[in-house]
Amino acid sequence: MKNKKTIKREYEDEIVESITCDICKITFDRKWGAGNFDVLETKISFGSGTLYPEGGYGETIEFDICPDCFVDTIAPFIEGFGSKRQVTDWNV
Ligand SMILES: [Zn+2]
Repeated sequence: MKNKKTIKREYEDEIVESITCDICKITFDRKWGAGNFDVLETKISFGSGTLYPEGGYGETIEFDICPDCFVDTIAPFIEGFGSKRQVTDWNV
């Protein structure tokens, strides 16, 4: 028979509590200042590595760019190479 007792375990975990834009350096709450039901997402990343059926490894390079800098700075920069903006509607 195993005699059990309850113990209190404490641990530390790292969570995102705010985000600072890599361009304008403004710090926002973790949703870029969006309201509870608003969606404001930006994603600029590059991933590489090796993935096997049993696991893998790799790395991701990413930048934290606020929505205003994405629209006003990053998008025009990329369009400067002749790329066209791809706008996709979504609905859930
Ligand atoms: Zn910004």
